[in-house]
Amino acid sequence: MKGIPSLKRAPLALALAGLLALPLPGLADSHDTLPAGVQQRIEQLTPQVVSWRRDIHQHPELGNREFRTAGLVADHLQSLGMEVRTGIAHTGVVGILKGGKPGPVVALRADMDALPVTEETGLPFASTVRTQYNGEEVGVFHACGHDMHVAILMGTAQVLAEMRDELAGTVIFVFQPAEEGAPAGEEGGAELMLKEGIFADLKPEAMFGLHVMTSPLGEISVRTQGQLASSDQFRITIQGKQTHGGMPWNGVDPIVTASQVVLGLQTIPARQLDATKTPSVISVGAINGGVRGNIIPDTVELEGTIRTFDNATREEIHQRLERTAVSIAESAGASAEVVINKGYPATINDSELVKAMAPTLQRLAGDQFKEASRSMASEDFAYFAGEVPSMYFFLGTTPAGQPLAYPNHSPKFNPDEGALPIGVSAMTALVLDYGKRQ
Ligand SMILES: [Zn+2]
Ligand SMILES: [Zn+2]
Repeated sequence: MKGIPSLKRAPLALALAGLLALPLPGLADSHDTLPAGVQQRIEQLTPQVVSWRRDIHQHPELGNREFRTAGLVADHLQSLGMEVRTGIAHTGVVGILKGGKPGPVVALRADMDALPVTEETGLPFASTVRTQYNGEEVGVFHACGHDMHVAILMGTAQVLAEMRDELAGTVIFVFQPAEEGAPAGEEGGAELMLKEGIFADLKPEAMFGLHVMTSPLGEISVRTQGQLASSDQFRITIQGKQTHGGMPWNGVDPIVTASQVVLGLQTIPARQLDATKTPSVISVGAINGGVRGNIIPDTVELEGTIRTFDNATREEIHQRLERTAVSIAESAGASAEVVINKGYPATINDSELVKAMAPTLQRLAGDQFKEASRSMASEDFAYFAGEVPSMYFFLGTTPAGQPLAYPNHSPKFNPDEGALPIGVSAMTALVLDYGKRQ
């Protein structure tokens, strides 16, 4: 499948004209997946989706501060005649579209937040926004492509709303805040949306989410079970007894003990867990202790991260980590205090749902459909996937012939807009095909 590789280098007007005139990447092979009328509607709507994306891109907002973006989304959903709820988990928006025919309740998710990164793409619609983040002045940039996700879901909402008479079942459009994490001291994101009861009255039986990635434009990839990792932080404080560096026997050395703990932790994934089952990582990223070479300090602090792809392994590592640190410290006559701050769980795709719905994505992407590799990044979508059988997939955004793609979170991250109609097609096709299964 050919992309539209010249889009990024083309002037804006030409790029839009190109989008209209050229066959849309990903759509060329999608005739079997989407009814012709729906596909045509997506093509017609693409310039609008592109302009939403650019508008959101130029006005990025950090987590829990997505006021303008949420307003745009809510106005759009209201204009489509949906029941709209706002202010969920601070700025979250939910739209409920009831189809004219009986059928299942399905939810689709887009995340709305940008990152504290100063944009260096040089795009004509680049962000110049600056704001305060945890007490520091920062640039704000959609460095993870959530502007693409919002525009894709707004487009999907429009396509499905326009065909509501033929639509089987109900679609819940979830626009969530703070996917990248809430500011210090605040709650937010999917966990808070669930806590506030977004699915209390109307629970979906399936949920879909996507993320733009730097894989080739038009590539769609998904895997069953753990696709993205859980991410937990830990802090271990080793308490020794301060003494002269020349006479260590007069104290308890927390530096040597901390060194043993660092190595001991590595034996958990390498020696203690079944290597055939699932990968996991424990990394110590900071060691702090001591002020000069001839003083053995009182305490040493270690900080690190734990990544796993299933929640049983996650719990097991937490226990083993504590046991390892405490026992090693004890063997030295020191003590260890372990604090684990739980971050996002692993994002686990429902095997049955992937089996049923991956063929839809495969028909859409043709030979650009792949089994996704695991990613050690983590996703707030994990909370939804823990509550509702879910399928989360990646959508590639790097045009053919463009060798260097800056990754998500880079100040030069620049996903190709050719992915927008593919995203709309994918979300629309998933809803329509899921409805047909009933
Ligand atoms: Zn991100
Ligand atoms: Zn992201």
